[in-house]
Amino acid sequence: MNRRTFIKQATTASLALSAQCLRAVDSPVASSPLIGIQIAGHSLLDEGMERCLDLVQSTCHANAIFLYSHSYYAAHKRPPEVYADHGVPIRDERQRNITRVWLRHHDSAFANTSLRIPRPSADEEYGNRDVFAEAAEACKKRGLRFYARLLEPGTKELRDRVPNSERAMSVGLDGKISGQPCRNNPEWMGFWDALVADTVRSYPLDGYQWGAERTGPLSSVLWNGTVPFCFCPHCEARAKREGIHSGRAREGFTELSALITKLRAGANAPADGVFTNVLRVMMKFPEILAWDYQWRLALEEQGRRTHALVKSARPQTSVGRHLDHRNTSWDALFLAQWSYADLAPYTDFIKPILYHDILAPRLLAYHLEELKKGPLAELSLQQSLEMFYAMRGYDPKVEPRLEELNHRGMSADYVGIETKRIVDRVQGTCAVIPGIGVDVPNNIHAGQPDGPKEKPFLSRPETLRAAVVKAFDAGASGILISREYDEMRVENLKAIGAALQELRKA
Ligand SMILES: [Zn+2]
Repeated sequence: MNRRTFIKQATTASLALSAQCLRAVDSPVASSPLIGIQIAGHSLLDEGMERCLDLVQSTCHANAIFLYSHSYYAAHKRPPEVYADHGVPIRDERQRNITRVWLRHHDSAFANTSLRIPRPSADEEYGNRDVFAEAAEACKKRGLRFYARLLEPGTKELRDRVPNSERAMSVGLDGKISGQPCRNNPEWMGFWDALVADTVRSYPLDGYQWGAERTGPLSSVLWNGTVPFCFCPHCEARAKREGIHSGRAREGFTELSALITKLRAGANAPADGVFTNVLRVMMKFPEILAWDYQWRLALEEQGRRTHALVKSARPQTSVGRHLDHRNTSWDALFLAQWSYADLAPYTDFIKPILYHDILAPRLLAYHLEELKKGPLAELSLQQSLEMFYAMRGYDPKVEPRLEELNHRGMSADYVGIETKRIVDRVQGTCAVIPGIGVDVPNNIHAGQPDGPKEKPFLSRPETLRAAVVKAFDAGASGILISREYDEMRVENLKAIGAALQELRKA
């Protein structure tokens, strides 16, 4: 969508999206581009439901609320410094025991799994509230669209909060539980499906956005030196059905993991080069790539089931796919496995994380430095950054230099380039709603004993304004103001609102 068509869509819904897409993005009552904001249940209650929604609507002009149904895999225990001043006292969430379940489930929905979501205990703050019911009602009165938001929980959250979750986890080559659930495990499939279906059946949702902030086994080994997974009986059975020799996959991953582990421990590069040796292992054991691809297929099967469950319960509810930062912006293997267009048959809108500010420090810590420890050991960080910018089409004269990555965010161009990449790929078969990052804190190394603390990484209003304009110029069907409402400063929410007003006038 360009500026001229911004208004046009509001009145005629004539954007060059398919009819299917328009139905999906715009609920029957909606007549304007989706302007969503991600929010957590505790913010609505801490600030007061009506006061909070007043602030949202009067500043950034959001017309949709994206509320966590379960804040298992979310920002928690942040220091007060990262909270924005919204005119109410800021409470230190590190001292609080806030519930992670914001709705009510029906046990009968979980008949196909032994995993359970217990009712919040008496000592969990807000555990006695059905915030989904309250928020749905409040949004309805205001004409706001109401979306559920869910990130697949990780091992720790599942272990701490979901009884029997150990039965559903991925298993590493070392035989130990890995960092994510196994999507070939019937216990997990039963749990996920029940969670989705019961949520959608129980609440009048305009949309359901889900995501799994994950990397596959090959990315995990190459980029992070993680123990390869999943070698549980369900994955081995799947491989057998697909004609993939699991013994050879184990052998290949063992060899690759040993190579990367040695390098990360400081070993000298092999005489014929690191990258050559990485490729050699993969050529010797093509089962590595096959194993990695099956991981992705299983993830996408979860996506297909999610879509089908939502539509069968509530056909008008749109299904959105949250793609996290590394999966939109630097995990080349994830991006190669599955194109954005491949998601469209079971996705009404794609929400890519395109947080321009925080990308810069994340790029340095999570990508360039990790590559240097492993498969691109021979490249300097400077060379690696130049290659990254060139391959993604970013202007090195505009974007941060290497020494600036911890202090200066990426430009708004990044939002425009990545939005256009997805829009061009999906060709109107699904909508693209980029996540615009506002004041996303820098929590890199937070929690590590000698690491820096989580701290604000503040956005500039003029860059945010430009990011919103570039997103729409690139063909976005809306935006999702992210990451968490409680981090967003009022001046930045107002800057987004002003950009939207400007677009409407153009
Ligand atoms: Zn498995």
